Amino acid sequence: MKGKLVYLTSPFNTEVREYPIPKAEPGAVVLNMLRASVCGSDLTTWLGLHPRTSKDYPIGHEGIGEIHELGEGVSKDRAGQEVKKGDRVAFVYYPTCMECFSCLKGRFDQCTASKYNYVPTPDVYPHFIGTFATHHYLFPNQYFFKIPDNVPNEIAASANCALSQVYWGLEKGNLTSGEWLVIQGAGGLGLYGLAIAKVKGAKTIVIDSVTSRLDLAKRMGADFIININDYSSMEERVERVKEITDGQGADIALEVTGVPEAFKEGAYIIAPGGKYVELGNISPSKKTEISPAIFTRKSITIYHALRYPPTYLYKALQFLSDYKDDFPFHEFTEDKVFSLDEFDKMMDLVNKRQITRAAVVPNKTVFA
Ligand SMILES: [Zn+2]
Ligand SMILES: [Zn+2]
Repeated sequence: MKGKLVYLTSPFNTEVREYPIPKAEPGAVVLNMLRASVCGSDLTTWLGLHPRTSKDYPIGHEGIGEIHELGEGVSKDRAGQEVKKGDRVAFVYYPTCMECFSCLKGRFDQCTASKYNYVPTPDVYPHFIGTFATHHYLFPNQYFFKIPDNVPNEIAASANCALSQVYWGLEKGNLTSGEWLVIQGAGGLGLYGLAIAKVKGAKTIVIDSVTSRLDLAKRMGADFIININDYSSMEERVERVKEITDGQGADIALEVTGVPEAFKEGAYIIAPGGKYVELGNISPSKKTEISPAIFTRKSITIYHALRYPPTYLYKALQFLSDYKDDFPFHEFTEDKVFSLDEFDKMMDLVNKRQITRAAVVPNKTVFA
């Protein structure tokens, strides 16, 4: 039997290709993909701006599936819960080898044994390592967790990676009750970050240029919103943040725009002694001019988060189970669903910022 996957042939261009569905080796799991959502780094890859971009790169890493086949020896998820064929699971999108110098330091987020090193292209067995596909292969050392029954597919799909990564980033930055948090960017990461911040009791200011996203941020509980279009310069926006925060600036800022100038702006928005959580900028080719002195003189601590420790996916799923009814997550996770064949059309809309969290449902005619 064959399955289908989206194959990136060159920037802006994909095609759907067929490969034999792999057999689960001992310790591995094969999934039927239920839903795969578009992360900012998928857009970066599609545009040809990701450092790993190359012809044949497997695209897609967010999503959920149901168990199609369990390899020998697999009867539980990484939380010790029994699993069987047909169970819905979320997976950490990269394996953790436990042997490399990063894993030995406990930095599983930086494991050097990426599955993209095991399998650089979908042409190589087991083929199904990108999530925009009918199937997905989990290697023996890849974490996966059962999805709580009360969390629907559309909400669970972005637990890996968006929610897990921003959850980790804000906890790395030790976001604390009562602090002023400025969120730069109201896309999926920003809105998930807002939900976490509200639960933690922070006071929030969300900055973006898309009115519909800011309206949603408001409905999710943002205390203040700043529409970039209402201000003619960075200085004016910095002044507005100071005005809201009694002249001090933000205790902590979260950058999830991927725009280098936003990183620069954050340095001025943050109060002396403040904290900066940087997630968005992942394209080495994108640059901005900034004096490092501003970070030194204001003593700003920067926390970076790329990927996340695998246990954060378990925490993210629990977060959704506990708080899914407290926030309108469905408003940005249900807005658009596409089939595998519509991938380039979908990415074009994502690139124009017309969709907040686009998703592919490979069997769209059945599930949509
Ligand atoms: Zn991602
Ligand atoms: Zn490792």
